[in-house]
Amino acid sequence: MDYAQNLNHIIERVEKARYRVSGHHIVKIVAVSKYTGVNEIKALLDAGQRAFGESRVQDLKDKDSALQELPIEWHFIGRLQTNKINHLIDVHPFMVHSIDSLSLAEALDKRLKAKDKTLYGLLQINAAREEQKAGVTPEEAIDVYQEINEKYDSIKLRGIMAMGAHSEEEKEVRQSFETARKVFDSLNAPDARICSMGMSGDFEMAIECGSNMVRLGSILFK
Ligand SMILES: *Cc1c(COP(=O)(O)O)cnc(C)c1O
Repeated sequence: MDYAQNLNHIIERVEKARYRVSGHHIVKIVAVSKYTGVNEIKALLDAGQRAFGESRVQDLKDKDSALQELPIEWHFIGRLQTNKINHLIDVHPFMVHSIDSLSLAEALDKRLKAKDKTLYGLLQINAAREEQKAGVTPEEAIDVYQEINEKYDSIKLRGIMAMGAHSEEEKEVRQSFETARKVFDSLNAPDARICSMGMSGDFEMAIECGSNMVRLGSILFK
């Protein structure tokens, strides 16, 4: 498989989508490597990709130690169990996309303080209000964001993360992205610059709705 060619093709699609918003709208790609091994990560790294995402702490830990010498920017995107927080902090990822409740923020902050560390984070929004998905509701998001900012200052909040509605209806998916984008626009926090939305099946739509960070897995490593 030719990773460089595949990556270029996807960058072209991202470029087209972002130009539909504006030439000034910059979009960053996080390559989600959760389905793949370290050799595939290396190949994509050689092709110029730097940001990689994992959704399980143990996988992140294993891949990080196997790739120690390489300039990878790790993003943690999965559900974070409290008993894995210390392991996560020790890997020191660049950013955690999946801060999905006040109680998780409190637990994370406590352990960060104990280790005298800070971490960039995004507040996960359950934009389509789906029971099986994590995240705070769009209604409570602004207050929760503010509260984390004020109380849990080891977490450096930088914006939001959301997943598109699990639906065949394009309209519903678009609506969930628009809901998340509205929350993002209302945050009233100067540091909130990242709106992480869009996966392999819906990233162009997410970008049209204002996403500036897409998390792409299967399409990159297929
Ligand atoms: C797996 C995963 C992705 C990537 O999904 P693909 O459809 O393979 O692109 C993105 N975000 C999160 C939170 C994920 O768990």
